[in-house]
This record gives sequence, structure tokens and C-alpha cells, in this order.
Amino acid sequence: LGASLALTLSACGGEGAGSTNDTENAAPEDLTIGVSMPTETSERWIADGANVEDQLEGAGYQVELLYAGDDIPTQSQQIDQMIAQGVDALIVAAIDGTALSAQLQNAADQDIPVISYDRLIRETENVDFYVSFDNFKVGVAQGTALLTGLGITDEEGNPTGATGPFNVELFAGSLDDNNAGFFFDGAMSVLQPFIDSGTLVVKSGQTSIEQAATLRWSQETAQRRMEDLLTSSYNDGSVVNGVLSPYDGISRGIITALQNAGYGPTQDAQPKPMPVITGQDAEIASVKLIADNVQDSTVFKDTRLLAEQAVAAATAYLEGEEPEANDTETYDNGVKVVPSYLLPIETVYQDDIQSVLIDSGYYTAEEVAAGQ
Ligand code: BGC
Repeated sequence: LGASLALTLSACGGEGAGSTNDTENAAPEDLTIGVSMPTETSERWIADGANVEDQLEGAGYQVELLYAGDDIPTQSQQIDQMIAQGVDALIVAAIDGTALSAQLQNAADQDIPVISYDRLIRETENVDFYVSFDNFKVGVAQGTALLTGLGITDEEGNPTGATGPFNVELFAGSLDDNNAGFFFDGAMSVLQPFIDSGTLVVKSGQTSIEQAATLRWSQETAQRRMEDLLTSSYNDGSVVNGVLSPYDGISRGIITALQNAGYGPTQDAQPKPMPVITGQDAEIASVKLIADNVQDSTVFKDTRLLAEQAVAAATAYLEGEEPEANDTETYDNGVKVVPSYLLPIETVYQDDIQSVLIDSGYYTAEEVAAGQ
């Protein structure tokens, strides 16, 4: 019933009426929100989808949640389908931030507000609001965690005087995701001075984001690149001391490559200890690796809070209001600066698992122990 009402409403909306006018006086149960998520291969997106859906339903809305299997045409087609079904608002986490212009023009023509979820949608004016975390700070946190793990700085980033040299390799995310550049730039802002001074040595010489990138954030691609780096740059008896990784799935690929080459199993192992490896998302498998002293750190982003912001923004538009932004300068999508709500992040080392992840109810102690 709700869906068909939503269809009728949106059909009436048509030319010029404006969905704000339509939706303002409608009951939430007569409104449908389309939620487009990139992939189910990473837990974080499963949690994001579930949190957004639960919270929207809790507020009384109908929800159409679709995952695009990391396939760009599938995501475009799913969004077309949602618009055709008459959704009243869209929440989209894009696979490729520049690939949705036609769909979003269609949404704009029907006055459907579009909220860009976590990954900025680029090169279109038809994105109304952006909810995410402070992505540059994520990178700074990852760079700082690498330095801290190597003993070059303390957790606040103050140098300890250690000069190494330490061999490190750098990984970045998928270049079609606007966040990848923010993460890499943030990390390099703290790592570059130590590369310049010779404390950090990138033995492969692969220091540009293009060289470090990992298409679709793929674990297997990262594993292959790490294997190639070990073969090409570490067959002279030298060892890798640290790896900058932007995402836990990539970290797990790196760890597999290193283990296959005789590193580890832990950071205490001899003769080839597992290097200091960073991460992001506090995925449960990686939290267990941190508990087991295999991975060194991750960056925790509380997807429950991100879902809350997405729901608040959608609700504001449907009630004919503007959502509250806390950043109106940073996120230029190539056409306009998109008003944003950015949430804080937190680095999680082994010592923080209890206080940050378990005490907050994000995971139970049993889940961490089982790694699932
Ligand atoms: C998100 C990260 C995530 C990555 C891979 C990025 O857009 O911000 O949290 O690790 O995508 O899924």
C-alpha cells in the first residue's frame, strides 16, 4: 500500500510541483526512500545499509535498499529503477563518484532530493547534501598510526627521535572514489617529511597515488600488488617494516601476501615480524587480527552515527527543510561545494578494542574473539 501511495504521490508531483510540497504534508509511511549501496563484499556497507534501513523504518518510512555488487552499470540501473518506482528521496553511496550524472539529472527533474552517502558524488549539481566522516583526518590517522607503530612518533604525532631507516610500502584505495585521494593526501601529509628525511624508505619507489591505488578496494588486487612488491623490491634479504593501508580488506590482502612470503604470523615473530599495517572500518575479521597482534591498527568510523545523519538529512528534505551542515567548504564536487555533515573518527589499536568497540556496543567480546 505504502509503495503504491508513494508512486501516486510522486506521479502527481510531476512537472514543477516539487516533491517538497508533495512530501511535506504526507505521512512518513506514504513516503519511500531509495537507498543505493555499493557492495556487500565489505561488512561496513552491509552495516551501513542495515543501519540506514532500520532507522528509516523506525521513523516510519518505506525503504527500498539495493546493493550494486560493485558494478557501475548495475548501480545506475538500480537508481533508474528507484526513480521510476517513485521514490521520494535518494541516499546513494556511489561506486564511481562520477558515473551517476544522468540518473541524478532525472532525480532532479522530479524534485527528488539526493543525499550523497560517505562517498562524494562528483561532477553534477544534482546532489543536495553530503554525509561522511572527516576523510582527510582518516588519512592523517592512518599515517600517524604507521609512524607510531614504527616508533617514529608517539600517538600525538610527536617525533621520538628514531631515525630508522624503516622500509615501508604505500597502498591507496580506488581512484574513482573521491575518498581515496583524501585518505592518501592525509596520510602523506604526515609521512612525506619522514620520507624526505630518509627515516622512511619506500623501497619500490611507488609513492604516487596512481601507483599505490587499488581498483574497487579489492583484497585480491592488494594481495597481488604486495606479492609483486616483495618479488621486485625485497628479494635482496631486506624486509618490509610497515605498510600504509587505507582499508581493512586491503590490509588482509597485504597480510596474506606477507604470510605467504614467510612474515609473521605476528608482529613479534622472528626472523621476519609482520610489519606495522594500518587499516580502516574496524571490520570484525581485522579487529581480531589486531587483537591477535597481526594487524597494528584500524580507523573506526561509527556507521550507526552516519546512518543517523543520512536519515536526519532525508527527513529534513521530506519535511520541506534544509538539513544542518557542519562543513560548507571542503567538498567541492567539481561543479559546486556540497554542504556536508562530517563525523569524527577514531584510531583503534589493540588497547582500544575494549573501550572503543566493545563498550560502545559496536561488537561483543564474543564477536571479536571469533573474528565474525
Ligand atoms: C569508505 C571507507 C571504505 C572504503 C572501501 C570508502 O569510500 O569511506 O570507509 O573503507 O570506501 O569500502
